[in-house]
Amino acid sequence: MSMQDRFSFDTQSRLPGLPFATVRTTILSMAKEHDLPLITNTDQEIQIETAYGNYSFVRQGADSSVLVGSTRADWLYVLKESLSDTIAHLSPDTASKILWSDAGDSAGCLPPNFQFITVQDVSQLPGGFLRVVCQAEDLAHFTTDAIHFRLALPAPDLAYPEWPYQSETGATVWPKGAASLHRPVYTVRDLNAESGRLVFDIFEHDGGRATEWARSVTPGSRVGLTGPGGGGIPQTESITIYSDETGFPAVARILAALPPTARGRAVLEHTCPDSKSYPLPDHAGIEVIHHPADSGQDLGDVAIAEMAAFADHMIWFASEKSATQKLRAQIKACGINSKDHYIAAYWTRPASSGTQA
Ligand SMILES: Cc1cc2nc3c(=O)[nH]c(=O)nc-3n(C[C@H](O)[C@H](O)[C@H](O)COP(=O)(O)OP(=O)(O)OC[C@H]3O[C@@H](n4cnc5c(N)ncnc54)[C@H](O)[C@@H]3O)c2cc1C
Repeated sequence: MSMQDRFSFDTQSRLPGLPFATVRTTILSMAKEHDLPLITNTDQEIQIETAYGNYSFVRQGADSSVLVGSTRADWLYVLKESLSDTIAHLSPDTASKILWSDAGDSAGCLPPNFQFITVQDVSQLPGGFLRVVCQAEDLAHFTTDAIHFRLALPAPDLAYPEWPYQSETGATVWPKGAASLHRPVYTVRDLNAESGRLVFDIFEHDGGRATEWARSVTPGSRVGLTGPGGGGIPQTESITIYSDETGFPAVARILAALPPTARGRAVLEHTCPDSKSYPLPDHAGIEVIHHPADSGQDLGDVAIAEMAAFADHMIWFASEKSATQKLRAQIKACGINSKDHYIAAYWTRPASSGTQA
């Protein structure tokens, strides 16, 4: 079945100056790193499947071209954006010449996965979290398969914020310099798709721009949101969860959604001892284990030490980047398919700040 027959939304562009061999090498290494299936892999075409849809790259003489297909318009947009970023690293000149076949109609409009949210309330939660309640414009796509989003926060002292728009070529133009937007990822803790009520919890850390924003924002303030994206709630009967505080809102969603028959463990890392009081739903089959961050072992070490004992469990892992990398490397070394697990870096410790936050 062709990409156009398979997907309701598609778009294509020539990639001037980008040889097919370079594209193929890049896609092969991406497929290997993220365990993504290759649908076609010849010296004329390479097609890769992602959670959002497919990319098909084809040799066009000395250049190449790409066809992108998805079941949803907003996902097609995410795929285009992600490809443009990758190509900007490979060949900035090619990236500047991308011209999507569906460009033009929406020039000057907000990106399709962008909306404004209006803050209604911010309150202190037990455990060092701030709970933000907002009114969103459209939560229809926020299903249990897609529970994360990005905030788009202008600099606090900016009198007239600027927002992204679609260019004539179909690319997103993000505000730059002093007008650039801070775009951290958060998890929907609760929502009402009918009323547009959206709730998320921010784990406070000093110096964090989202923390500073939530501490000072007043009801009625409007900021941007892009999404949803980046993972959903796993459907499984056996699970081992490893998470630091940044993952607790997602862990809460998982515990609330797991079937009553599910069995497993949730190892929760506390950089702040108070975070033991973060409100998590009880699940009779899931044993909760508290792990102090200053124990000398990060969550990567803990998960690796326990891997053999819980080999039949799905691993759900959310932590700082270095712990994540450690676990990913071990999973690869053991020949385990990382696609069956969720292993995600939720934040990155600056290089100079030592081992524990
Ligand atoms: C899929 C996903 C879902 C997420 N969901 C949530 C969520 O629901 N709630 C939540 O609180 N976070 C969540 N996070 C983590 C959040 O995106 C990061 O912590 C982000 O860096 C916060 O941005 P900031 O504006 O607070 O910090 P920034 O201003 O971007 O960073 C300032 C400094 O803070 C450091 N930093 C960032 N996070 C932490 C931390 N936790 N502890 C100590 N230092 C830190 C950075 O290294 C940086 O040096 C999620 C991340 C992902 C990928």
